[in-house]
Amino acid sequence: MELQESIRDYKSREGFVPAIQRPALRPLKVFAFDPSLRRSSGNLAVVEIVNERLRPGPEGRLVRVVNYDATEDSYYAPVDLDAAEVLIQRGLDPSDSDPRFHQQMVYAVAMKVIENFERALGRPVHFRGGEKLTVLPHAFEGENAFYDPETLSLQFGYFTADTQNPGPNLPGQTVFTCLSQDIAAHETTHAIIDRLRDRFNYPTNRDVLAFHEGLADIVAIFQHFSFPEVLRNEIRATRNDPSQPGRLLELARQFGYATGSGRALRTATGLEDGEPDPKLYDELWEAHERGSILVAAVFDAFFRIYRTKVADLVRAVTGGSGILPEGELQADLLSLATREAASAAQDVLTMCLRAFEYLPPVDVTFGDYLRAIITADFELNPRDDFERRASFIDAFRARGIYAPAVTSLAEEALRLGRPPELEKETLHNELITRALASQFDIYVPDGQARRREIPRSIYPRLTGFAKKHASALQLDPRLPIQTAGIHPSFHVDENGQLLVELVAQWIQTPPAGDPQRVEIGGVALRAGTTAVFAADGRVRYIATRPLPGRHLRNDTQREVAGRRVDGFRQYAAALDALDPLQLWSDKTYADERMLRRASFAFTHHGLASRRSRG
Ligand SMILES: [Zn+2]
Repeated sequence: MELQESIRDYKSREGFVPAIQRPALRPLKVFAFDPSLRRSSGNLAVVEIVNERLRPGPEGRLVRVVNYDATEDSYYAPVDLDAAEVLIQRGLDPSDSDPRFHQQMVYAVAMKVIENFERALGRPVHFRGGEKLTVLPHAFEGENAFYDPETLSLQFGYFTADTQNPGPNLPGQTVFTCLSQDIAAHETTHAIIDRLRDRFNYPTNRDVLAFHEGLADIVAIFQHFSFPEVLRNEIRATRNDPSQPGRLLELARQFGYATGSGRALRTATGLEDGEPDPKLYDELWEAHERGSILVAAVFDAFFRIYRTKVADLVRAVTGGSGILPEGELQADLLSLATREAASAAQDVLTMCLRAFEYLPPVDVTFGDYLRAIITADFELNPRDDFERRASFIDAFRARGIYAPAVTSLAEEALRLGRPPELEKETLHNELITRALASQFDIYVPDGQARRREIPRSIYPRLTGFAKKHASALQLDPRLPIQTAGIHPSFHVDENGQLLVELVAQWIQTPPAGDPQRVEIGGVALRAGTTAVFAADGRVRYIATRPLPGRHLRNDTQREVAGRRVDGFRQYAAALDALDPLQLWSDKTYADERMLRRASFAFTHHGLASRRSRG
C-alpha cells in the first residue's frame, strides 16, 4: 500500500489532504459452484470479504494457504492478492489450471464462512492459541478433502474423473476438490465447529458426528444463496419456489459426478423423496446420512419462512389471489423475490450459527440444537414476525426430532430455562468487566490496534461459581469442574437495543474408577453445562447434559441422564455391529475403537458416506 501512504504524507498548498481510506471489503472472484458448470449463468461470481492485509499465500489474520503437494513433494508459487495488478481486477480470473486461482478461491471461501460465523456469534473467531488455519489446496492425490484437527488444517485432494460415467466432466479430467465452493465451505465449517465445541468430535451419541456433518452442509448450501445471479435464475426457473430440486440445493455436484455416482454428492432435501419420513431419524446411523436429516429440517424451515415473507408480495402482484399467472415471472416480482430469498437465507443461516452459544458443551443432539435455535432467536427477536420459530419447530417435528425430556412442542416449552435458585445469583462484577473489555481493540502508541485475549485469570472465579451452584447447574459436586470457556457476544436486537451476553461452559469427566464413569472404546461420557449470562451477571439460560447421580434434583433430569448412558451404549453397539475390523482386531483396537472412529469420520471419509442406504 505504498500509494496510500504516499498520499497520506502529501501536503497540498492548503496544507492538508485527507488520507484515502482503505476499502472495508475486498472483492475476489470464485466459482459459485465448481468448474464443471464452467461459465454458465452465475457460476463466475465475486465474493466480498473483509479487506485485511495479506502476505503472499495468501496469509491473513486467521487463514494461511500453503500450496504444498505431498504426492509430488513440491510447492507452487503463492499468490499475492495485494499486488496492484491483482487488486485492480478483483482477484485472478477463475481457472482450473492456474494454482494461484486455487489459492485465492480457498482463501475467499474460508474467510466468507468465518465471517458468517463472526456475524452470527457477535464476536471475532480466534483459533486456539492464536494459531492460523492452514489450508492446503493440493494436499494429496485422492477423492477426498478433510479437516485435520491435529494440524489445524484443511486438506484438499485432487483426482482423475471417472472414465466411464464422468457426468459434465471430461473422462479422465483432473478434478480439484479445492475448486468446489461447497467442499471448501464444508471443511472450513468443521474447523470452526471444532473451535467452538471441541468435544463435538467425541461420538457419544448418534447425533454428535452427524451434527458436525449436517451443519457443515447447511453452511455450504446457504452460500449459494449469496450469489444474486444464481438465485435470480433459480427463482425464475422454479417460478418462485426455490424448494424445487436444482443447483441451488445441490452439494458438491462436480465431485458427485466425477466419482461416477451420476449425481451431486448430497442435496438440501436429503434422502427424502417427497414427504419427510420420521423413521429415518430412528434408522440411520452413518454421520453424513444422519446429518442430511438435519439439513433437510433446516431447509424445510427456511422454505416455510421464505414463503411467509413473500406471501404479501405475491398477493400484491396477483391482485390478491396469490396465484401466479402462467409463463415468466414478472420482472419486478423476480427482483423483489430474489432480494427476499437472499435476506431470508442470511437470516436463517445466522439463526443456525448463533444457536451455537446456547448448545451444551458436550454430547449434542439435534433436539438440543432445536432448543438452542429457538432460545437464541427469542432473545434477539421476541416478536417473530415471520413465524421463524414455528417454522423450525414444525420442520423438526416432521422428521421426528424432539428435544430430550421436553414433552410439549410449544415454543415456551422448548425454550431453555434457568433454575429458580440461580435467579438472584450473579457473576462477580470484575469478572464481567474484564471479559467484556477483552473484546475491544485498544490503542497502543506504535499505532497498531491490538485485540486483547480473555484473561485466563478469570477462570478460577468462574469455576468457583460453578462449584458453588453445582447442583443447580446439574453438575456433580463430588467431581472436579473444568471451565471450558467464556466469551462475550454483542448483538443488536429487533428493537435496536444492544444485547450483551456472556457465555460460560463447564465440563466434568469422572476419573477412572469412579462409579459414574462410562467409557467405551476410549471415549468417556462427560457432564457439561453452558450458561448464558446477561450483562448484569445474572443467568438467563442454561443448557445441560448431566450424568446420573444423586445431585440431580428431579425425575426429568434423572431421565435425561439415564437416557444419555443408554444412548451411548446403543450407539457404540450399533457401530460395533457395522465394523468389520472388530471381528479380527486386537485388544488395542477394541480399547480405542470409538476414538478412532471419530478421527476416521473426519480424516478418511471427510466427504463421502461410508455406505449408501440399502
Ligand atoms: Zn464433513
